[in-house]
Amino acid sequence: MNKYDAIIIGAGLAGLGAGIRLAHYGLKVCICERHSRIGGMNSYYHRQGMLLETGLHAMTNLARPGDPKSRPLLKMLRQLRLTLEQLKVREQHHSLIRFPERTLRFDNDFATFEASVADCFPAEIDGFRRLDRMLEEFNEVNLNNHFASARSLIGRFIKDPLLTDMLLCPTCYYGSALEDDMDFSQFAILYKSVIRQGLFRPGDGIKGWLDLLLNRYQESGGELRLNCGVSRILSKDGQVTGVLTDAGEVLSTAKVLSSAGLPETQELGELPGDARFGRVAFFESTHVFKELSESEETIVFFCNTERLTYRRPEPAVDVDSGILCYPHHFKFEPGDFRPPPTIKTSVLANPARFPAEKAAAMAEVEALTVRMTGADPGNAIFRDACTPQTIVRYTGRKEGAIYGSPDKCLTGKTALQGLYVCGIDQGFLGITGATLSGISMANLHLLL
Ligand SMILES: Cc1cc2nc3c(=O)[nH]c(=O)nc-3n(C[C@H](O)[C@H](O)[C@H](O)COP(=O)(O)OP(=O)(O)OC[C@H]3O[C@@H](n4cnc5c(N)ncnc54)[C@H](O)[C@@H]3O)c2cc1C
Repeated sequence: MNKYDAIIIGAGLAGLGAGIRLAHYGLKVCICERHSRIGGMNSYYHRQGMLLETGLHAMTNLARPGDPKSRPLLKMLRQLRLTLEQLKVREQHHSLIRFPERTLRFDNDFATFEASVADCFPAEIDGFRRLDRMLEEFNEVNLNNHFASARSLIGRFIKDPLLTDMLLCPTCYYGSALEDDMDFSQFAILYKSVIRQGLFRPGDGIKGWLDLLLNRYQESGGELRLNCGVSRILSKDGQVTGVLTDAGEVLSTAKVLSSAGLPETQELGELPGDARFGRVAFFESTHVFKELSESEETIVFFCNTERLTYRRPEPAVDVDSGILCYPHHFKFEPGDFRPPPTIKTSVLANPARFPAEKAAAMAEVEALTVRMTGADPGNAIFRDACTPQTIVRYTGRKEGAIYGSPDKCLTGKTALQGLYVCGIDQGFLGITGATLSGISMANLHLLL
């Protein structure tokens, strides 16, 4: 009963993507999830009769019918045996990168961004086009890529540090585990995912998408154990033999795929680990309003100081830069799940200050939200906060490191035979990236 071909740790998007692949191929697979609900960082909860989403601002890597099959989103869907119609792609209106002196605009047509760069930085447009061409040819998903500083490589093409900061603002905020910089491969992935390909939402929201994934997994024969944390990965003579659950049960297997994070997985396997725990943590406020005056922006990546600082702040939160998201500003269609009028504000946070300073942090972020959007706080019918502690509680990632360890494990291999890593610490993050990571690690290591 307790013997499996493969065990997956975590029912976030990476774990679900991997599980679906293995179940499709007839493996006896079990996903062990510590929580009572699937989705990991991307999940949902109910309050005051409303369904509220965690994590989801927008999905990246937009693809439309007829796009080349090599598009990451189409690859992901093909591997899951799902379609664009089932995902119900609802595109963004437009988004901004807003700094004190300049604002760049982008939507799902790259020409908009290119024209905006030409308009705001006429002296840099040739360099920007060269950078874009170089990125187009760069293979960011090559598992043999080594670390290179995005900031210094961008600097070879762009002379104005303001434009470099404006390119790093959305890419760091959507996926850098490194402070004040990012790995160039990560930059290339995020630039292509967010700026080149674009943003959208699933028409049925994150719950609809998770339901579809779970259904696909279970109808293919996959087993899901909720409230089933893994407290140890068992091994003998350097080979995985199974896992020990928090309840003390032993599940036997020769193959474990972990989406728990690289340093966390090294701890579970009692491996000599050198992967660092990440330092980048966020505070995200959610305000639901009775009504909000209409604007067409979907997401605003902002920096209110001259230069971008992307590092753990000394105080509880750093309100100098961050993300404003309007999850109800997408091109919805009748019958869709449409979030209520909502503003989500995400800023950098210091995990050591929580929970003691949660209320003060919320007041500071609410004041920022009001200042930047003109929203009337008196109109708010619900407010909530996702702190670094929330991330620890719901994902097990130490200190709420939202993008995991700065040390990625691109091959997915560990020091133990049969133990592999997928998800954000394998190197691909976000909803589409994490799912693709699970799929590709399952294909590479478990479907031999
Ligand atoms: C506030 C916020 C906003 C975001 N916005 C976006 C967005 O707009 N667009 C986007 O694409 N991405 C967004 N992301 C990022 C995205 O959510 C993640 O990159 C992605 O979901 C990571 O998936 P994962 O499966 O790798 O990890 P996780 O979601 O962390 O899943 C790991 C799972 O493993 C489980 N687990 C861990 N340890 C154990 C254990 N020992 N035993 C059993 N189970 C265990 C956890 O409970 C969890 O369910 C956001 C994230 C946050 C927090």
